[in-house]
Amino acid sequence: MLRLPVFGSKSPTSIEELVMAIAEPGARIVAGGTDLLPNLKHKLHAPTTLVSLDRVAELQRITWDREAGLLRIGAGVTLTQLAEDAEVSKNFSSLSKAAGLVASPLIRNMATIGGNVNLDTRCRYVNQSEFWRSAIGGCLKSEGDVCHVVPKGRSCVAAMSSDCVPVLISLGAHLVQVGPEGRREVAMADYYHSDGIAHTHCQPGEFTAEICVPIAKTPARAAYGKWTVRKSIDFPLISVAMHFALDRDAADATITEARICLGVLAARPKLLKVDALVGLRLNDPTTAELVGELCFKQGKPLDNVPYEAEYRRKMLRVFASRALRDLLA
Ligand SMILES: Cc1cc2nc3c(=O)[nH]c(=O)nc-3n(C[C@H](O)[C@H](O)[C@H](O)COP(=O)(O)OP(=O)(O)OC[C@H]3O[C@@H](n4cnc5c(N)ncnc54)[C@H](O)[C@@H]3O)c2cc1C
Ligand code: SF4
Repeated sequence: MLRLPVFGSKSPTSIEELVMAIAEPGARIVAGGTDLLPNLKHKLHAPTTLVSLDRVAELQRITWDREAGLLRIGAGVTLTQLAEDAEVSKNFSSLSKAAGLVASPLIRNMATIGGNVNLDTRCRYVNQSEFWRSAIGGCLKSEGDVCHVVPKGRSCVAAMSSDCVPVLISLGAHLVQVGPEGRREVAMADYYHSDGIAHTHCQPGEFTAEICVPIAKTPARAAYGKWTVRKSIDFPLISVAMHFALDRDAADATITEARICLGVLAARPKLLKVDALVGLRLNDPTTAELVGELCFKQGKPLDNVPYEAEYRRKMLRVFASRALRDLLA
């Protein structure tokens, strides 16, 4: 049986109390706990106090801020709420879809969007029991001093496996971070870096309060594709999120701006260089071919999650073309 370590808990009721609670040494945020608690059982973290977001009402809302042109999603909004919100689904179908594809209904009822964007990185050599890890001597992210994925590497390349993150990056979202220094905004594309051990720019004592998604001013279409072996429960093995701004809302519209983001390659989601797509027609067969080619050429999975990296790379092309097909439908 895997046991939880001993820790204290706090349930602040306001942002101010939350800031103070998180500033305590050894404190860590717990939202739904669907990622954190298994990691605690696997002895990957050892917080002395878990600080819950549950009772901070301001963090549990979805608001349409038309003046600022933003959809504001409180960090404590559950993935079920997000996936089932009719307005979100109408305006940001790729985000609804990604939220609705996470794990299973029970987990989505607990899991929050704040936890999803701050999800720890994952690796086949570390998301195991301590006993399992001891058989291979641990690794850079646990008790050892070598990386089993890149044996000569000096840093951890565990994968960011969140479903919503690549989508939010493709939609140009930003985070509102709150901490002892006050509030700051960070573009989601800049929030992650390549170190799988400390993969976000979340400062000490800081937490994510809101995820803000710009409301498109011009016609736009977006889609998300995720490859898993089982249709439910599984984390993505690769994922593709795309967003196209268009000159008009039609399948044969011309692309005026494109963003494609790939997930589960390494600790940082990969925003592709896709300038070549601007000026092409959305439903032109060459567009589909080019999208697949860009994903395949620029996406280079590692052997950090199950299934061979080369096979996952081929699946990038497949899931890119399926996402594009959904977007044309
Ligand atoms: C069986 C199983 C399958 C899963 N499948 C998927 C999947 O398919 N796709 C997927 O994306 N995820 C999956 N997950 C992971 C997880 O359920 C989700 O990512 C979920 O959204 C995490 O949210 P949470 O609220 O439970 O986070 P928690 O577990 O509470 O927290 C996760 C991490 O984020 C930090 N954190 C939480 N909220 C904040 C905040 N507001 N500010 C700063 N840091 C914060 C915590 O300290 C912790 O380090 C799966 C988990 C399980 C157990
Ligand atoms: S990528 Fe390497 S260091 Fe990181 S968790 Fe996996 S084996 Fe460990």
